[in-house]
Amino acid sequence: MRHTLALFFLLPLAILAQQGQRPNIIFIFSDDHANAAISAYADSRNLIQTPNIDRLANEGMTFNRCLVTNSICGPSRAAVLTGKYSHLNGFYNNETNPFDGSQQTFPKLLQKAGYQTAMIGKWHLISNPTGFDHWEILISQGQYYNPPMIRDGKKVKYEGYATDIITDLSLDWLKKRDTSKPFLLMCHHKAPHMGWEPNLKYLDFDKDRKYAEPPTLFDDYGNSRGKAWKDQFMTIAKVFSDEDMKLKPPTDLNEEQLKEWNKYYEPRNAAYRASKMTSKDSIRWRYQRYMHDYLGSIMSVDESVGKILDYLQKEGLDKNTIVIYSSDQGFFLGEHGWFDKRWILEESLRTPFLCRWPAVVKAGSENEKMVSLLDVAETFVEVAGIPKPADMQGKSLVPLLKGENPKDWRTSFYYHYYEYPKSHRVRPHYGVITDRYKLVHFYKPDLDEWELYDLKENPRETINYINKPTYAKTIVKLRVELTRLEKELKVPPISEEPRSDYGSLPFDDRSMMQPNNQKKKADH
Ligand code: CA
Repeated sequence: MRHTLALFFLLPLAILAQQGQRPNIIFIFSDDHANAAISAYADSRNLIQTPNIDRLANEGMTFNRCLVTNSICGPSRAAVLTGKYSHLNGFYNNETNPFDGSQQTFPKLLQKAGYQTAMIGKWHLISNPTGFDHWEILISQGQYYNPPMIRDGKKVKYEGYATDIITDLSLDWLKKRDTSKPFLLMCHHKAPHMGWEPNLKYLDFDKDRKYAEPPTLFDDYGNSRGKAWKDQFMTIAKVFSDEDMKLKPPTDLNEEQLKEWNKYYEPRNAAYRASKMTSKDSIRWRYQRYMHDYLGSIMSVDESVGKILDYLQKEGLDKNTIVIYSSDQGFFLGEHGWFDKRWILEESLRTPFLCRWPAVVKAGSENEKMVSLLDVAETFVEVAGIPKPADMQGKSLVPLLKGENPKDWRTSFYYHYYEYPKSHRVRPHYGVITDRYKLVHFYKPDLDEWELYDLKENPRETINYINKPTYAKTIVKLRVELTRLEKELKVPPISEEPRSDYGSLPFDDRSMMQPNNQKKKADH
């Protein structure tokens, strides 16, 4: 007996892992983080350096094509938790119902299997978290500065910057955890969600750099593109409020913070006001201001990843802890003249997914397979040694993490966006995605338009090929595949979808975006 115990304490972690010690999991999840705003994902604009997120790429695996099922906050989070599409987990959009927390989720399964579970940061599913030994969440969207939070059901107030607070609370939980059990920590940041309010210490991070513009900043929505493109309400040109552009300070700063904020923004705002720009130049100015604020708010997220990785290393936990960095979806950074997400288009459909797990994953590896946030639940269930629930709709990423090349991996993917008209009048649409094509149907409430994009011929997705005869065979094949996917995924007929507030059209967009209604913008 004495010998056995001595041997136990002398065994290195890797051997313990081989002998069945289940890995710990840290899932770092940000909000609206576009791949283009991570330096590990090459982007021609070279927008930002994220050295700590890049550590995950250098020491682990980068997934280059991770897709979301429904490109908007709550529904994407619900898909992560359940491994199911919106039509099965019941969370279609941010407007209709709270998430049904009584259903099966992977944190519940892990908790039941002996994992210690915690959820800290942005939750945004209206109902309280379930399946966690400890949870502490922002209220709804939360605020960047001095955010009130709810800790295990009780309201608490913090001074400081949300990303730092969420990081500190996550580290505190790790330090106080029961070391006899494996853990699941979900560390969910608010950043870089709208209104893109950077940590005050990073306000001058880019030294007034001028960012390259995307080639489609002044997109005219031509090339046979339909009504959905022309009728959206998500352009930098029309939608930004004074608060979004920082021409007005946020309301959640204390006096001292406001001074610091004003010190940075006031002289720059005064120069803008005095410049009397043309409307085109004003759009260019808005884009620059947007990039400063959006990228500035990522600086602390990157720092947070570094702090967590450093802690794991210091504690000797880094070998057998899976660390994933991802976001609930991508974001438009001026492409098509837009901000926001929602569309089946690459910028909003693709999301970052990087995984460090030295016991299994080869450092510096990249994966080109079509994976999805839908796969997260099954991956963690497999990692924890739990039998796969038959009703989950994703695929475990474990074989890919091991460097295998499964021949039966998916070659097509189903996408479905429902929310309309709030907040950006993006038409509900669904479609099938392959490595090269997307066949999309824009439908409710008054549309019946199909579009075809060809990523090889037109990677910026500015041409609709649906009426081009040379694509006829491709279109037929894609429609057949779409039908097959709908059947396999048990997609209900459109008539059974929950009703959105279609009746309010036409509505006054501007009034909805006024600063005094900012708190109502819970649907991002
Ligand atoms: Ca989001």
